[in-house]
Amino acid sequence: MKQVTLHGGKRIPALGQGTWRMGERASDHNREVAAVRAGIEAGLTLIDTAEMYGNGGAERIVGEAMANRRDELFLVSKVFPHNASRAGVRAACQASLERLGTDRLDLYLLHWRGGADLAEAVAGFEDLQREGLIHHWGVSNFDAADLADLWAVPGGDACSTNQLLYHLGERTIEHDPLPWMRHHGLPAMAYCPLGQGRLLEQPGLRAFAERNGITPAQAALAWLQSHDDVIAIPKTSAPERQAENRASAEVTLGREQLAKLDQLFPRPKAGRPLPIV
Ligand code: NDP
Repeated sequence: MKQVTLHGGKRIPALGQGTWRMGERASDHNREVAAVRAGIEAGLTLIDTAEMYGNGGAERIVGEAMANRRDELFLVSKVFPHNASRAGVRAACQASLERLGTDRLDLYLLHWRGGADLAEAVAGFEDLQREGLIHHWGVSNFDAADLADLWAVPGGDACSTNQLLYHLGERTIEHDPLPWMRHHGLPAMAYCPLGQGRLLEQPGLRAFAERNGITPAQAALAWLQSHDDVIAIPKTSAPERQAENRASAEVTLGREQLAKLDQLFPRPKAGRPLPIV
């Protein structure tokens, strides 16, 4: 599988799996654990979760699914901005680790800026790194102005990545903040890479996929992976879909195919405030 370089040099897979909406209903528990496990077995070893998802329930699903395979995984979780004070970030991280049943996160993200004091949040992440509770830290839903503010606080430029809404049908970040990020060597993690499933219903994408002998999900994910600095984290609670999503990593779109997708899903002409979900 293709790798992407985090700001700071660590190489991680360009494709992983998300977990939003997991851990919310007891009746879905077994299927969700099976889905995350099927993803790991298919090779989706980068797993994105957050203290927010299912009120910690998604982290519990991941913990159960990974069982004794922790060392093969790259685990990402996120802290609420209201927990991102220097002391709060430690308490939140420890609670996430407890739910995940592990002793460290590979990457810990500030979920969105909100009212967080960036200098405090960075100092909190640095504490956790020193103690070995996290290896890398980053942010999510930051536009270029937010990133510039982050770069201005002590240690802020050690940020590894920025997780953003990005898929064929939502290319606003190509105006802001992707150019800023490319200039500073900061890769993007693309969330909602399937447009939460709705993108896959687009007739143009369906026809493109059929012509190319792939599924709409594979087309959407392969497009994201055609960028050298983008990591995609599709979520499925259907165990049988994980292999399909994983196989997108083997799809290489040629110049003509990329041009066709660009024509079907053009970049918006003008920027607008950062879209979030
Ligand atoms: P996605 O774009 O990943 O889409 C998920 C939807 O697509 C689900 O309804 C799923 O249904 C469906 N789906 C998945 N695979 C297929 C397939 N092969 N064929 C058809 N349908 C499919 O949306 P998410 O919102 O889940 O985003 C991905 C991840 O990004 C999240 O899970 C979360 O980890 C992260 N995220 C981060 C945010 C942030 O603020 N940082 C915000 C939002 C998401 P089913 O489950 O039934 O298969």
